[in-house]
Amino acid sequence: MRWSKGFIPTLRDDPADAEAISHKLMLRAGLVRQLAAGVYSKLPLGLRASRNVEAIVREEMERIGGQEFHLPVLHPGELWKESGRWFDIGDEMFRLKDRRQGDYCLGMTEEEVFTSIARDELRSYRQLPQIWFQIQTKFRDEARPKSGVLRGREFVMKDSYTFDIDFAGLDAAFDKHAAAYRRIFERCGVKAIAVEASSGAMGGSASVEFMSVSDAGEDWTVTCSGCDYAANLEKAVSVAHPVDDSENAAEVEKFETPGIRTIAALVEFEGGAPAERQIKTLVYIVQDEPVLFLLRGDHELNEVKIAEATGTTQFRPATPEECQKALGALPGSLGAVGVEDLTIYADEALGGRKGMVTGANEDDFHVRHVSVERDLANVKWTSLRNVTAGEACTQCGARLEVRKTIELGHIFKLGLRYSESMGLNVLNEEGKEVPVVMGSYGIGIERLVAAVIEAYHDENGIVWPWSVAPFHIVVTPISVKDAAAMSQTESIYEKLAAEGYEVLLDDRDERPGVKFKDADLIGVPLRVVVGPKGLAKGTVEIFERGSKEKQDVLLEKVVAAVKTRGARLASAPPR
Ligand code: ATP
Ligand code: MG
Repeated sequence: MRWSKGFIPTLRDDPADAEAISHKLMLRAGLVRQLAAGVYSKLPLGLRASRNVEAIVREEMERIGGQEFHLPVLHPGELWKESGRWFDIGDEMFRLKDRRQGDYCLGMTEEEVFTSIARDELRSYRQLPQIWFQIQTKFRDEARPKSGVLRGREFVMKDSYTFDIDFAGLDAAFDKHAAAYRRIFERCGVKAIAVEASSGAMGGSASVEFMSVSDAGEDWTVTCSGCDYAANLEKAVSVAHPVDDSENAAEVEKFETPGIRTIAALVEFEGGAPAERQIKTLVYIVQDEPVLFLLRGDHELNEVKIAEATGTTQFRPATPEECQKALGALPGSLGAVGVEDLTIYADEALGGRKGMVTGANEDDFHVRHVSVERDLANVKWTSLRNVTAGEACTQCGARLEVRKTIELGHIFKLGLRYSESMGLNVLNEEGKEVPVVMGSYGIGIERLVAAVIEAYHDENGIVWPWSVAPFHIVVTPISVKDAAAMSQTESIYEKLAAEGYEVLLDDRDERPGVKFKDADLIGVPLRVVVGPKGLAKGTVEIFERGSKEKQDVLLEKVVAAVKTRGARLASAPPR
């Protein structure tokens, strides 16, 4: 492609409203433009990068036996009512009516549609297993579409679905996907950590997310410095910093705490207690019922763990009035001692604790000497709290780290969730009808492109890894008015293109400095500079965008030199 004829609208300055580096650079390098909040047009360079990622994804999906489909994004509401998700999913789903007032929605993921095809077509265990995938647009009315294409409201996802006769088959399909995902991310140049993830209210037995470390991420990932334990903060567990409970087990005693409403205030209060000796009592309305969640005073609740514990996403914090009604006091004076008619979940870090202080369910009063085992009735033990950096790994005792990450992909053992609700059965070997065991697996294409940029950039712009680069090489003449140099430039361009490289010819009548700046910004890995000084000696200069290395190469050696560098760049380890 000739730059002068191409459409690469680079911007000199950072756009005002972009925060994530990938977002700024995708705008500045002319990859995308915003059409509406969370809705982006891909310009030619952006499309090229996306297609490179898609090609890698497609190859790896086909390598594990995946077959590509292309299903509609306009879905009849009926299907989603069958699975129940029409009612479970709230505002994130784009819903619409057709002219006959029929319910429709735009696909946010396609379990329902794939399951309906499987239900109509699959009859026997002999047709299993199946791995079906597509690379298709998804719509989600995200609450906070930000960070550019990292969180769009319209985006492309590779989604796949597996159908097996039994759970052993699902395990195999899941492992195949995990391996394919590792290869995909590695080939795209990004280091991805496979982490245990929450299956939330959707049930399912296992789910793994693939995370790339980046400040632009919106997920927190816990990793162990001593072993391979890695989990999403929503799922992670740790050994809490231990507390000495040598206090003797006196009777529970009520005491007055005028105006004390917070953990911090009770720490300061004379006769109060340090945070790790307090029980924090949080009230949520879970499916219309008040439920108590207890944590150590210095620990933070993770709401996703409420979904895991209760098996529903239908919950919200109780209002002060609802607390008053349920427990007889306002937030700040709440506790679980003596509460027998409500469901109580307690975080595991409270197990066996003695000499604790908590609210007395009477405004301005607390109780002390609380022994968790002795004084709290019918507690359900679970993990409710956020792990913090520096706590110990439950597997090996080493120090845990907590880092911000981008979720690149998610693989999920669905089990019978859709086959049972939608009636997807086949005949097994004994001729008996059994539900099909399913898995579902996703990778966001644009999010992956953005994650690549998060990992591959410097102060001058993008530094594409070879596999994703929209162009591998830019051939840059110092002056387009120099006829001899232009003819050499053309010939180098032709030769490199003939080798199968994606080559850009910067034939714009601009100063070299301007051209170099643009080439740096759009991140082309190799630049071949053709100038009069070099040509006088029969050489051109090869410049490597990443290392900034320069090399003078004889004209007849250009292709060989590019091949060597290209091969080295293509096999660079992921970041
Ligand atoms: P998140 O927690 O970031 O919202 P999710 O859990 O909703 O992600 P999945 O439903 O598992 O995501 O979707 C599979 C993949 O699709 C994700 O791993 C991610 O790569 C991509 N993806 C999800 N939502 C978006 C979005 N709004 N914009 C771009 N990519 C997305
Ligand atoms: Mg989401």
